[in-house]
Amino acid sequence: TDTLASRDPEIAAAITGELGRQRDEIELIASENIVSAAVMEAQGSVMTNKYAEGYPGRRYYGGCDWVDVAETLAIDRAKQLFGCEFANVQPNSGSQANQGVFTALIKPGDTILGMSLDAGGHLTHGAKPNQSGKWFNAVQYGVRRQDNQIDYDQVEALAKEHQPKLIIAGGSAIPRQIDFARFREIADRVGAYLHVDMAHFAGLVAAGEHPSPFPHAHVATTTTHKTLRGPRGGMILTNDAEIAKKVNSAIFPGIQGGPLMHVIAAKAVAFGEALRPGFKTYARQVIANAQALSDQLIKGGLDTVTHGTDTHVVLVDLRPKGVKGNETEKALGRASITCNKNGVPFDPEKPTVTSGIRLGSPAGTTRGFTETEFRQIADWIIEVVDGLAANGPGGNAAVEEKVKAEVAALCARFPLYPTL
Ligand code: PLP
Repeated sequence: TDTLASRDPEIAAAITGELGRQRDEIELIASENIVSAAVMEAQGSVMTNKYAEGYPGRRYYGGCDWVDVAETLAIDRAKQLFGCEFANVQPNSGSQANQGVFTALIKPGDTILGMSLDAGGHLTHGAKPNQSGKWFNAVQYGVRRQDNQIDYDQVEALAKEHQPKLIIAGGSAIPRQIDFARFREIADRVGAYLHVDMAHFAGLVAAGEHPSPFPHAHVATTTTHKTLRGPRGGMILTNDAEIAKKVNSAIFPGIQGGPLMHVIAAKAVAFGEALRPGFKTYARQVIANAQALSDQLIKGGLDTVTHGTDTHVVLVDLRPKGVKGNETEKALGRASITCNKNGVPFDPEKPTVTSGIRLGSPAGTTRGFTETEFRQIADWIIEVVDGLAANGPGGNAAVEEKVKAEVAALCARFPLYPTL
């Protein structure tokens, strides 16, 4: 037979192991989700075999009729989801979507203004170790000390002082809605492009449960695998025909070669799912669950950055309990709760230690959890963290074992990929 298990038992075992991990653990990583079997079927399809450099109807290879159907559907559905005129669905990742925008609109040495990593921005927004920080003169803004919200006055002052060509709004650890109109006002004042990176909250925008970057953004980028619940990948959106043209040339031939047509087909499937009414219900529940999680963590004696959330992101400040992000990530892992350590704004700890963990509700909500389950999860987190506070980094093994067993029971009630 030609099954994966017989051809390559080592990889088959790794995949089976990963499926088991996803089934048995509570996934709280804010940037992850659980795609439908239909999305996986499209991604694991014969479209992986096809070269299709170019765009639908304008390819550099023959035999592109069927991949053109898939890419055109992906583009049309993306435009409908986000109410915009142009979509490029070819970026292989969120990082490459951002690179595509930079390649389209600015030149090496130009000034860009983005949110700093320690305040909640993404590496590709001008962080030093990233290409965006090496090839551009990257100026960074942060959040206000008094409320940990984006410091718009600082954004404006930095924009006036440094005259950036491009301003980036968005990030990876921002629990609150962003004032896109204010960003556009600032961009207009200095003649900069406004680039909104909605990678994290795009699914909420698609569902109409979060303000849209349009009409304020000149261009928006996103990943397709976070709240949007599609395959891993990126996308660029705009209403401006000139920008769209530049973006298309920037992605191909600018920075990419043959597009991943199997992934594009899977993006189309995910966008089709997001267009259905059930996705609005999903996005509402994502936000309600994150708010319940935050509320219950605060009741249990932890804090969350901005004391709540408008989105799927809960950035937990562990300092009230005197424990660190790295040890908390490990202890929760021992109890089958998966998350990542994350700096909080003005964090006194190193990035490898941190005073926080970042949690998110998208994956758990897809699994079927509601506020009841998320409050229960918060209680488990408090128990594990109290174990760390009392015993040091080793935690309380008995408590962790007890929580692990309770997590297993919860996961069994919400089966994942029952047909696999
Ligand atoms: N932009 C933001 C705001 C993100 O959070 C991420 C993902 O971590 C990215 C871009 C990059 O996406 P990818 O990991 O697909 O390159």
